[in-house]
Amino acid sequence: MSFAGLLDFARKDIDIPASSPRNLLKDVHSQFIHQYQADHNSYMYIMSEHLRVSGIYWCVNAMDLSKDLEKMPSQEIIEYVKTCRNSDGGYGPAPGHDSHILHTLCAVQTLLIFGETIDSETSNEIASYVKSLQQEDGSFVGDIAGEIDTRFTMCSLATCHLINRPNTLNIQKAIEFIMRCYNTDGGFGTRPGSESHAGQVYCCVGSLAITGRLEEINRDRTAEWLAFRQCESGGLNGRPEKLPDVCYSWWVLASLAILGRLDFIDEKKMKRFIFACQDDETGGFADRPGDCADPFHTVFGIAALSLFGDETLEPVDPIFCMTKRSLGKLSIL
Ligand SMILES: [Zn+2]
Repeated sequence: MSFAGLLDFARKDIDIPASSPRNLLKDVHSQFIHQYQADHNSYMYIMSEHLRVSGIYWCVNAMDLSKDLEKMPSQEIIEYVKTCRNSDGGYGPAPGHDSHILHTLCAVQTLLIFGETIDSETSNEIASYVKSLQQEDGSFVGDIAGEIDTRFTMCSLATCHLINRPNTLNIQKAIEFIMRCYNTDGGFGTRPGSESHAGQVYCCVGSLAITGRLEEINRDRTAEWLAFRQCESGGLNGRPEKLPDVCYSWWVLASLAILGRLDFIDEKKMKRFIFACQDDETGGFADRPGDCADPFHTVFGIAALSLFGDETLEPVDPIFCMTKRSLGKLSIL
């Protein structure tokens, strides 16, 4: 870390370089994603097998949001995703890897973005896998490792909604668990008693929205906690005393959009930060200005700009982080 970097770390914010991009460089991002996805020999591609299906969803979704989906090799990707499915009904990150709810949701999202129909038998098997993850207290584990996290509740509810099997799960118990993770500051944590974190707020608010239970929380209190994530630079952090990061533009903004409180954020400053995270040479977004771009921050940077109504992008659904076009009548808001 450079000396300037150390200073930023101490004050928990960054300065936006004057030379940073000031508008959306859509075309270089499509190139970045396309190359990233196509180059199967790159170091990054080979090293990312443990999160491949999620990576595919980030790339496919970024292209769909950018109105460039037709540039992706749809048949090749669909076939690959299907080979990641296991006999337990779930999907792993790559063929031969154990199922995980994160990859199961990303697989379903990817297939739907390409307009694939998931047949009834497959949907039943996916639903039975997701059901096997729910615990006695209503919480969810992500896989056989057994870690409990409110992220897995959101992924489970979202998966069952997208395959039209919402009643597979014990919704009442799932919501009771979510509400045990609701903190007095308005945020949510990973488990009861855990500190509030923007990623978990998104997952819990999303879970309440999917199940039609948003009235369980004080919207303004939660929205205020989210609005306090905005730093002087305009960027958003995940929790107090942390540096801003472009992926939180999505977790925080989408939560505010679901709550109907997007105006709690200074949009102009926010956009300035997001634009500055773009790499104007290679394309793609980094977590912060000047860092290395990757597909994860690229999709969430683009999705955040779509939430602000950028007309060059497809409108995004704040709950499912997919285009409203691909969701069709599966949209809730
Ligand atoms: Zn990040």
